[in-house]
Amino acid sequence: MTLTCTLCPRKCSLANGETGSCQARKNINGKLIPLTYGKFCSVAIDPIEKKPLYHFYPGSRILSLGSIGCNFHCKHCQNWEISQPHRSSRKPFLHENTAEEIINKALQNNLKLVAFTYNEPLIQIETLMDYLPKLKKANIKTVLVTNLYINKEPLLNLLPYVDALSIDIKAFNEKSYSTLTTANAYSIVKDNIILCHENNKHIELVSNLVTDINDKIDELKQTANWISSISANIPWHISLFYPTFEYSNKAPLSPDFINKIEETKHLFPLSYVYTRLNQTTYCPHCKQALISRRNFEVINIASSNTCSYCKKEVPYLHV
Ligand code: SF4
Repeated sequence: MTLTCTLCPRKCSLANGETGSCQARKNINGKLIPLTYGKFCSVAIDPIEKKPLYHFYPGSRILSLGSIGCNFHCKHCQNWEISQPHRSSRKPFLHENTAEEIINKALQNNLKLVAFTYNEPLIQIETLMDYLPKLKKANIKTVLVTNLYINKEPLLNLLPYVDALSIDIKAFNEKSYSTLTTANAYSIVKDNIILCHENNKHIELVSNLVTDINDKIDELKQTANWISSISANIPWHISLFYPTFEYSNKAPLSPDFINKIEETKHLFPLSYVYTRLNQTTYCPHCKQALISRRNFEVINIASSNTCSYCKKEVPYLHV
């Protein structure tokens, strides 16, 4: 019997024995089996700044778990050996971790935060739906690092158990999105970002710029305007791609390009725009530096979300 997976907009139609485009879901005798249920290939403790999340418990360490597969197939993916394991000769080793084991590992390391990251976590929806409520009950905050390419219904079912999301906006129109990821995901991802915001989730947005694809300053300005139409306080992280995987031979963007963004970003109607050159959080009211960072490490940290200079509340900062 052929099945249709309704988790993400790819809507894979799977005959018996076929695996979905994400490599994580398979039709086995008429049942859609989540192949990576409770299975992970990467477990590490990272600074939360590495997700990147700069406004969600800055300076904290976060237990980070990743599995295999992705419903995008990005040509510049830095984690392609786990996100597109069918393309790699080195098969990642998967091991099982129960929710209880994850909670114990977090608590043993004095961690109050757990992230599902490295590959696309939403394709492990059954794991998330089972594990996240248990993590929440253990007083652990949950983070997804995600492309947010998912249908509305499963996203709405999941959101009550998620505290924060680091979300990729990979490009700024459908054509570029499709070129980079093989999915016409632009409007879907934008709608899902709005949904997360409307459901009061902490969100930070991430855009990785690739030569000749999504490197137009005008598009960055338009995107800044769109983010600001949701909330001017949503942080936006902008980085430059590293030539790798299918884009190993693509010319990198000039390092000057990041200077250009730094020179232009005062035109963006946003309180917090971060690049590699400037990772400091400034008070949006008095412009004083509140949190400084270098290479994902926090050097100087605000102890509350009240600005120590102007005494006004610093919006969108959970400390
Ligand atoms: S989650 Fe995977 S199997 Fe399901 S529709 Fe998306 S790519 Fe296909």
